[in-house]
Parts: sequence; C-alpha cells; structure tokens
Amino acid sequence: MRGRLRLAVPNKGRLVEPTLELLRDAGLVFEAHDRSLVARVENHDLDILFVRTNDVIEFVGDGVADLGVTGLDLIAEAGAELPQLRRLGFGRCRLAVAAPDDSPFRAVEDLAGLRVATAHPETTRRYFAGRQIAIDVVPLSGAVEVAPRLGLAEAIVDLVSTGSTLATNGLRPLGDVLASEAVLVANPAALGDRAATIEALDTMVSSVLAARDRKYLMMNAPAARLGELTGLLPGLSSPSVIPLAESGLVAIHAVVEAAAVWSLLPRLRAAGGSGILILPIEKLVP
Ligand code: AMP
Repeated sequence: MRGRLRLAVPNKGRLVEPTLELLRDAGLVFEAHDRSLVARVENHDLDILFVRTNDVIEFVGDGVADLGVTGLDLIAEAGAELPQLRRLGFGRCRLAVAAPDDSPFRAVEDLAGLRVATAHPETTRRYFAGRQIAIDVVPLSGAVEVAPRLGLAEAIVDLVSTGSTLATNGLRPLGDVLASEAVLVANPAALGDRAATIEALDTMVSSVLAARDRKYLMMNAPAARLGELTGLLPGLSSPSVIPLAESGLVAIHAVVEAAAVWSLLPRLRAAGGSGILILPIEKLVP
C-alpha cells in the first residue's frame, strides 16, 4: 500500500480557490505551483493531486486518490456511487432548465419533442425521462447559454448560481434539475484501509466548516440580569459565566451563530450587556 494519503482537487475553475482556502484554513502547509500535478503537504502524511475537475471522480473511483473534492452535479453526471464524507459549503449552484425569454415555453413539459443543449447530458436525459418528456439532448462542453441564440437548441440545462448569466443571455428558468455544492468524496476501499488518516483530515476540514458560521461572543453584565441574558444566547452548550473583580458583575462567553450576531447585539445591550466583543473562531470541534 502507498504510504501517504492522496487527495485529488480541481486544478482549474471556480472550485480551486475555495478548496485551497479550506485546506489552508484546516492547517495544511503546502505550496501549490500552477503547473505541478502534486503538492506535498509538509505537516501531514498527505499529497494533494491537482487534476481537472471532471477527472477528480475518476481518480477517486480508481483508487489513484483516496479522497477528492468535486461537485455534486459532476457526481450525478458520472453516475458515481462514491461515499460522500462531507458537503463543503461552497460551489453552491443549481442545475436548471432554461429557455429564451421571448419563447412560448413556460414549463419543462412545453419542451417535448425539442432540443436541449447541456454539458450534463446524462443528468438531463434522466431528468426528462423521469417526467416522460421526450427531448433530444445536444451535448456541449461549454458556452451552453448561447446555444439557443445560435440555433443549436430550443432550451438548455445549465448550472446557475445567481441567475445573472441566464438573465444576460435572455433566458428564463423553467425548473430545477438538482442542487449542487462542493463535496468531499472518498474511495470506498481507502475508507477501510486508511480510516485513521482520513478521519484526521475530515475532522480538520469539518472543524473549519463549523467555525465559519459561528462567532465567539464575550461581554460583561450585571449578575442580576444573568437569566435574561443567557436566555438570549442559545450557544453550543450553556455559556461560561465568570465572576469579575467588581462585585455584582459577571463576564459571559458564548459561541453564537454568525448570522444572528446583528440581531443579537441590540438585545444583549438592552438586557444590560456591555463591553461586548465578537471574535472569529478558527476551528470548532463540537
Ligand atoms: P468550472 O470548472 O468552473 O466550470 O466549475 C466546476 C464546478 O463548479 C461545477 O461542476 C459546479 O460543481 C461548480 N459550480 C458552482 N457554481 C457554478 C456556476 N454558477 N456555474 C458553473 N459551475 C458552478
């Protein structure tokens, strides 16, 4: 068996930056040179293989890599049954059916007998077959959104995040095929053979993901209003309450949802909180 764990990640495209940021935040130290296929991680028994996003699934499926970062849309397209260890919270998008604004099509059923261009031909076939709508799939590898204008197809199935690319190209969504995001996948055999090292990596990654939506809150408060204040703080567990030198005052520390901070601050203040500090959390293992 190979010595070091291997993780396959995309070398191009929109998943590259968030993937490298996640690995670095997880504490892995490595140099990623643009043209090198392999980066050796200095502080962990891990090599990172940079491959085309589309090839990540192949590398992991074949066992050339033990783990991989790829998109749920690509897994669906490949029909791959790889164990999915964790959703990574970036690369969020949906695969949507869309047709020109000025077309008469209002629903996916209106596309019966017509052509649909897509870079996800298998997923598209399955989607329409599942609804018993007969269409012709026109497989493309990119620039799907211009296909109707070029007369290649009447409609498309393409990845959409904000919807602005559709709007710019005069297209309107008719329905969603699937929701996608980046995911950490594993080779089934490696999950058994390398359970401990995979678990270590997954724990580091998950601790970063958990920390990203949380903040550490510290404040001072009159002890008399402790109940009221802690009631506002549904943290990970109960908040820490620390006595202060000045009698009648306590410090309260708690982990809070990052998204809730802005609505929480005025309420904490109104309930007697003062000297409120909000700090980022680097890693969180519940
Ligand atoms: P790329 O290599 O940049 O074409 O995209 C690779 C993967 O990024 C796709 O297969 C999706 O999983 C993901 N992705 C996330 N948002 C989008 C989007 N708006 N358009 C295309 N791909 C996206």
